[in-house]
Formats: sequence, C-alpha cells, structure tokens
Amino acid sequence: MHLILFGPPGAGKGTQAKKLSQRFNIPHISTGDMLREAVANQTELGMKAKSIMEKGQLVPDEIMIGIIKETIESTKCKNGFILDGFPRTVEQAKALDKIFIDLNIKDVVILDFNIDEEEIIKRVTHRRSCSKCGSLFNLLTDKLDNVCPVCGSHGTIFQREDDRETVIRKRIEVYKNSTLPVKNYYKENNACFISIDGYGEIEQIYQTILEKLEKVKVD
Ligand code: AMP
Repeated sequence: MHLILFGPPGAGKGTQAKKLSQRFNIPHISTGDMLREAVANQTELGMKAKSIMEKGQLVPDEIMIGIIKETIESTKCKNGFILDGFPRTVEQAKALDKIFIDLNIKDVVILDFNIDEEEIIKRVTHRRSCSKCGSLFNLLTDKLDNVCPVCGSHGTIFQREDDRETVIRKRIEVYKNSTLPVKNYYKENNACFISIDGYGEIEQIYQTILEKLEKVKVD
C-alpha cells in the first residue's frame, strides 16, 4: 500500500500516519521529521533548512525531491509507505509521479485531511512533542506535567519553534498558495483521492480511514 497524507499543518496527518504505519507495517515517511533530524544533527541539509523552517517557508523543491526519491527507492519502502508532508508543491507532485512510474508503483491512495484555519491555529499552538519517542500531544486534551505519557521520559516535552502563532499563520498562507494547488493537480489526473474529515476523536478518524481504505480495495 502506498499512501499520501495530504492536508494543512495540524490536520492530524502525523498522528494518523503513526497509527497506519503500525497497522500496515509500512514506514511513515515524514519530510518534516527528516528535516528536523537534519537540523538537530547539524548536517549540510539541516544548515540549509533551519532558517527556512523557522520562517514557515518551504525548503526548495530540488532538495526535497532528491530526499524523497532516495527514500522511496530504498529497501525500507519496498512494501509500501505513508508519505506525510510531501508533496507540498505541484512541482513535487509531478516529480513524485515520475518516481512512481519509474518504480512501477500503481496502488497510490491520497487521503485529504480537511480542517479549517482557526482549528489549525488552536491545535498547532497547543501541540507538543516528546523529543525521546516522537509522540505527539495536545495541551487541550493531554495531561503532561513535563513527563511523556508514552515513554515516561522526564523533561523531553517540547514545542516546535514553527508551531508558534506567528509562524503557523505564515505556514497556513504558504499552504494556501503553494500546496493547495496540488489538490487540483491530483483531481485533474484522476488520482485515487479520499476526503477525510479532520474533526473528531483520533480513534474515530482512524476507523473511518480504515473503512474508506477497505472500500478502495473492494471497489
Ligand atoms: P511539517 O512537519 O510537515 O509541518 O514540516 C515542517 C517544515 O518542514 C515545513 O514548514 C517546511 O519548512 C519543511 N518541509 C517539510 N516538508 C516539506 C516539503 N515537502 N517541501 C518543502 N518544505 C518542507
């Protein structure tokens, strides 16, 4: 199975990607996570990406396309993958299609997460992560007390720099201008495109996704 999780920041892509990755035993490929790791390790890519990410802008297409091509061609993706955060421009979507053709990948499903702007801001500004295990939390629903409820680590809960309100507003603007056109690109190209209501409980959204994916297989 080859899934693309599409939608604005804070729509729940990362949370659902983690669950789907476990369920189908295929890797969760988050370009945002890959870039954050590169920044943390101060690699050449990380040095280039750091200030761009802090401003809520997009890392250049040629860099992102190179990273994703290398990842999809690697053996860890041989049985499928879940893309989260890629493609973010029509240029990236076109390059991805070319990779799919070259690798003869056909069963691609796009899950399009829908959620409105004010909800994005509310969720993202309350989002926290654990630097140890990578789990995601929301201060509105999760009681943290500076201890990760998943791995039990102390002092590892942090807020992403680019989740602050000024930056998330910029990211939403970038999403509208550069990423939303990708939706039309997929519709015009008759891709298998499934709309997901991003509101509701994590578990309920997850079950809806499983049902919809099951239907795609049957149809
Ligand atoms: P995310 O964790 O997906 O919200 O991504 C965090 C940041 O990483 C974005 O705001 C961009 O600066 C950068 N980024 C992640 N994926 C991409 C991509 N496909 N193209 C360009 N920039 C990206």
